[in-house]
Amino acid sequence: MKIETIAIHAGNHTDEQSKAVVQPIILSTTFERGADGGYPGGYMYGRAGNPNRKALEQVLAQLEGGVEAASFSSGNAAGMAIFQSLQPGTHIILPDDMYHGLRNQVKQLFTGILEFDFIDVNDKALLQQRIKSNTGLIWVETPSNPLLKITDVRKVSAIAKQHNIKLVCDNTFATPICQQPLELGADVVMHSATKYFGGHSDLMGGALITKEKTEWWEKIRQVQESGGAIPSPMDCYYLVRSIKTLPYRVRGHIQNAQLLAEHLEKHPKVEKVIYPGLASHPQYEVAKSQMKSFGGMLSFTIKGSEDDVRKVANSIQLFTQATSLGGVESLIEHRASVEGPDTKTPRNLLRVSVGLEHIDDLIADIDRALSFI
Ligand SMILES: *Cc1c(COP(=O)(O)O)cnc(C)c1O
Repeated sequence: MKIETIAIHAGNHTDEQSKAVVQPIILSTTFERGADGGYPGGYMYGRAGNPNRKALEQVLAQLEGGVEAASFSSGNAAGMAIFQSLQPGTHIILPDDMYHGLRNQVKQLFTGILEFDFIDVNDKALLQQRIKSNTGLIWVETPSNPLLKITDVRKVSAIAKQHNIKLVCDNTFATPICQQPLELGADVVMHSATKYFGGHSDLMGGALITKEKTEWWEKIRQVQESGGAIPSPMDCYYLVRSIKTLPYRVRGHIQNAQLLAEHLEKHPKVEKVIYPGLASHPQYEVAKSQMKSFGGMLSFTIKGSEDDVRKVANSIQLFTQATSLGGVESLIEHRASVEGPDTKTPRNLLRVSVGLEHIDDLIADIDRALSFI
């Protein structure tokens, strides 16, 4: 099946009793046992399993071409499950421009438990050099947040496989519509479902999708069930509902992002546009080789001071000044001030989550804001 068909059908189960076409929401936290002490409905307790969560995990697994998915109450909870599934003392290698919330999680919560190195994972020689006998995991995020760096997943995967190291790819920015990391050699894909999967900035969720059912995956399942950072039945329902339109929404985001990137690249007040779909992107060739399309996120730097950047962000009207991404509405953000003092993000950079408004309105709005500096 093609991805549009999977998005609509893989997570939906017509109700056997009522024949409801849309799967009902099962809020019950507990499920009746049979006379033999078993669980005839296949469910026992809400933390262990729920029909709406099962439906969500089925569609997530199929969208990424994996065998199973585990869903979580946020993207960070999904990331945390990965780190908690590792033996204490394991060495992990992470990208130096990793999503700052997860970078902080590793530093704040896993110091003394895991050993970690933040490096440029695209530097093959450096990556080889940092691998140690206890290295158990490499993490990649591509395109990265907020610099939209591209990591060559095939290359990193080849190195990881040589050393029997697990490879996880944060695919939040790309979504399975643009890129399928399992096909490129990742073992597990991670998502913040808060972003494009939810797509309407009104729920939080996270997901892990595995290529194979391994002992490690069983451990991740234990973290999910025993740790308990599971999504509610309502959130699972909303995610399944939103995922039905994911391919079409993402296509709209991509179309607008490409047009906006091309427009801004020609703008005299713009210094640089970072978008993997532009030939000027330093890793455009790698992006083309592993992505089907280039996503709805772009960053740009302006010719001006941090004050000028703020002026642009403050005078823009259609783009809401807020963090996060992947919703139908366009968002703009001065990223450096969100990431804190140790950020490497340029202070004249604005990150844009390009929404589904009409591109002419978006361009007119951004041009107007740029005219004030
Ligand atoms: C938002 C985000 C996360 C974290 O997800 P939450 O749902 O906010 O916990 C992880 N990775 C990337 C790339 C993100 O954008």
